[in-house]
Amino acid sequence: MVRVIVVAVPGAGKSTILKKVVEKAPNIKIVNFGDIMLEEASKRLGINDRDELRKKINFRDYKKLQEDAAKTISRMEGDLIIDTHAVVKTTYGYYPGLPSKVVEYINPDAIIFLEFRPEDILARRMKDLSKDQSEGRRVREVEKIEDVEEHQKISLEMASAAANHVSCYLLVLRFLEPQKYPYQHADEASSKIIELIEKMKKAE
Ligand code: AMP
Ligand code: MG
Repeated sequence: MVRVIVVAVPGAGKSTILKKVVEKAPNIKIVNFGDIMLEEASKRLGINDRDELRKKINFRDYKKLQEDAAKTISRMEGDLIIDTHAVVKTTYGYYPGLPSKVVEYINPDAIIFLEFRPEDILARRMKDLSKDQSEGRRVREVEKIEDVEEHQKISLEMASAAANHVSCYLLVLRFLEPQKYPYQHADEASSKIIELIEKMKKAE
């Protein structure tokens, strides 16, 4: 049973990458941390969607929800990828996605940090934004290159701190060259993620 946490800033294309992981290796299960938090919040606090999760929950309840989500994940079986964030950008500042208690519950064998060119991330966000707009969903604020750079830098620092806390491996996968064909990064990232999981399973 291998557990790997995958982090990347919003708009990095993580969901697409993890979808490819499951296509290539259907034995691997993906769990989205935000979905689990939302499930708990809707059961206990009557929250309906991610927008309400951000706006209606105060930060103390948020911390409890986060820990409970990690507890729920700790009970899951099989080879697992946890799709989450090393930091969450909030109106108060950066909030750790993998603070000590959370990473202890999840008890990962490795944390994979995915880094992309800020301009690629911004372009992907623009695409999501127009889709969200046309479908009447919340529109995310547009950030600058420097904002994305800072976000990625702090994400890696937080991911390092989490890996140190539980003595797990930290794998940094960087995709800093423009793609030569569509989905090249998703293809390569998904293969590298599977490769690590297979290697760890063999060594178990
Ligand atoms: P995602 O769909 O993976 O981008 O995550 C959506 C939302 O879930 C994030 O914006 C956060 O509000 C929440 N979330 C995901 N992972 C964590 C975490 N580890 N700690 C706290 N909140 C999280
Ligand atoms: Mg996502």
